[in-house]
Amino acid sequence: MPRILLHMCCGPCAIAPVRALQARGFEVTGLYYNPNIHPLMEYKRRRDALAEVSARLGFKVIYKDDEYDPQAWFRSMSFREDNRCFHCYAMRLERTAGMARRGKFDCFSSTLLYSKFQKHEMIAGLGRDLAAAGSCEFLYQDFREGWKEGIATSKDWGIYRQQYCGCLYSENERYARELDEPPATATTGALTIPQDGDDHA
Ligand code: SF4
Repeated sequence: MPRILLHMCCGPCAIAPVRALQARGFEVTGLYYNPNIHPLMEYKRRRDALAEVSARLGFKVIYKDDEYDPQAWFRSMSFREDNRCFHCYAMRLERTAGMARRGKFDCFSSTLLYSKFQKHEMIAGLGRDLAAAGSCEFLYQDFREGWKEGIATSKDWGIYRQQYCGCLYSENERYARELDEPPATATTGALTIPQDGDDHA
């Protein structure tokens, strides 16, 4: 049975790709390596949702919580924010390809190829480039074909479905229009500066 290391961004996006790969006879192992998900509790919610999916579909997941380092992620995006998705994909796919090679998997891929909101061709190109550079074979499949099935199943199972891609930038974009609204209640007057011993909460 061929073994694939599949990078996983969240639970809902894993459902259709895992089913498709299992139907092709693959033994699927997931890799949850996503330092791009902010803040930490959102990272944890997506991780826990994935654990639920893995239990239901019967596959293992390697959780790289020890490499959840948003500071390093922000540093590596610094001054290239306009092209941040490329670097964000590259970081996660490089890690997956490296682990697949060392773990002697037959190939690697990513559930990022499932989402209609991601830059599909960019992800596929990065995977092919990594394979060409001698990491490990890259398995390309257009998992978007299972888009509706994945959504329906995740809702049916009550799996947490996130509302933004992951990073703080994408969270800001989600709420960008909120600042067009005036504050709910206008306040005037001087600020109260907390004194030593005051409760800052
Ligand atoms: S929008 Fe998504 S893919 Fe792009 S940098 Fe942010 S987390 Fe990464």
